[in-house]
Amino acid sequence: MNALSIHNLCKTYSNGLEALKGIDLEVKQGDFFALLGANGAGKSTAIGIISSLVNATSGTVKIFGYDVKMQRDLAKSCLGLVPQEINFNQFDTAKNIVLNQAGYYGIPRKIALQRMEICLKQVDLWDKRDTMSRRLSGGMKRRVMIARAMVHAPKLLILDEPTAGVDIEIRRSMWEMMKEVNTQGTTIILTTHYLEEAESLCRNIAIIDSGKIIEHSDMASLLTRLHVDYFILNLVQPVLNPILNGYEVKQISSKILEIGVPKERDLNDLFTQLSAANIHVVSMKNKSNRLEQLFINLIDNKNVRES
Ligand code: ADP
Repeated sequence: MNALSIHNLCKTYSNGLEALKGIDLEVKQGDFFALLGANGAGKSTAIGIISSLVNATSGTVKIFGYDVKMQRDLAKSCLGLVPQEINFNQFDTAKNIVLNQAGYYGIPRKIALQRMEICLKQVDLWDKRDTMSRRLSGGMKRRVMIARAMVHAPKLLILDEPTAGVDIEIRRSMWEMMKEVNTQGTTIILTTHYLEEAESLCRNIAIIDSGKIIEHSDMASLLTRLHVDYFILNLVQPVLNPILNGYEVKQISSKILEIGVPKERDLNDLFTQLSAANIHVVSMKNKSNRLEQLFINLIDNKNVRES
């Protein structure tokens, strides 16, 4: 079953701007899916239409088989949305914010109280349930938004840049939490600017550019399309611009090199050359942000095709 099916979705705003130019997208139940795109690509417009906040010009959107236009309430009951900006009353407590949301969905008080407890525990905020949310940290406020979006137990959760602007520690703890929510059966769609985040969390991915889907595939096969793998080498002694035949070498600092290894070459030859040059390696790691390179390649290729 598809959690989300989008067919030929178009949106032209009243000023004539074509924000979506016929997109098709499918997200399977249980998936952890990344929707990527630069600013202005059309992500928010698509999310707005999925969550019935924006009217489509044409095309269809179904959430677990329910058409967002024709079966709006059923579609909405399957969906939880975590928007980019904190949009709750900051003078209210986390407990009330979540309970009020349950009220919007018509959940009876007794069940709402149980759901509120489950959701606040899931985002690790149960201890803070009676704290005025204004006093919570930025990361905690985002977690309140997630608990609020989950109170009606939606089968699909859309998170619009949930970790934008939060520090690395909070980001990592939110990753763990999102993984947990997904493991427990909720389908997650994530928009993010952090490609590293998409790479480490998501199984499938779509890339949107200027209102069109330019890539829609599983993460693993997308990454195998990278022709060069990048490694960071930490060295024992400082070196200056070493030449390694057949490899791209970038000097990060006197004792750190970034090496581009083409797919057809092996690492043994690299180490033979390093040894011959008397360069000793303390440690080596794969550069994590491989998706970024791919993203840049895709956009560049598209621009070349169009020019
Ligand atoms: P993203 O979320 O990927 O940054 P958006 O969906 O917000 O992209 O925007 C897609 C395009 O639509 C952009 O060019 C943006 O300026 C335009 N746009 C967004 N909202 C409106 C609106 N209400 N009226 C006119 N143009 C809009």
